[in-house]
Amino acid sequence: MGKAIFLDRDGVIIKEKGYISSLEQVEIFPYAADCLTRLKKAGYILIVITNQSAVARGIISENELERIHSHLLQQLPLDDIYYCPHYPMVPEQKPYGIRCTCRKPETGLISRAVVKHGIDLRGSYMVGDRASDILTGQNAGIKTILLNSGYGLERMESTVYPDFTFADLQEFCDFLLG
Ligand SMILES: [Zn+2]
Repeated sequence: MGKAIFLDRDGVIIKEKGYISSLEQVEIFPYAADCLTRLKKAGYILIVITNQSAVARGIISENELERIHSHLLQQLPLDDIYYCPHYPMVPEQKPYGIRCTCRKPETGLISRAVVKHGIDLRGSYMVGDRASDILTGQNAGIKTILLNSGYGLERMESTVYPDFTFADLQEFCDFLLG
């Protein structure tokens, strides 16, 4: 059993650009590789969990999304990437237009990672840039970290109370690892 850091994707490890539809749009933050390497060395299991309603909205295919995620797994010391392709507001888009249990702030993606990677949620963190990330962590009963490197605190969809707030992933790493 190991403790994990669950990371949102856009605005946390890559630049926030709205709906990303191809690998060419992916820009990994310059500090991400170094930060994730330090967290990995400190013993954390590193799991990306991301809402990708762009699939349900027909903006990106699952094939292209998997191409992006293979690239990230190759470039960064991540243990796994889980995504939710669903969006309930487009019921005509079968099979994606459904209400599911994996779209954040639901905890389905975390549950899948916990089983597969033998994660101990005590001592684990959820790191994200949006209210839904903080709510996901709180729903899972883990510590929550809000970063200002994505959507930004002034654009939060709702008021949330994270355990800590930092400028970016680098500042969180420095805090956690000293
Ligand atoms: Zn889902």
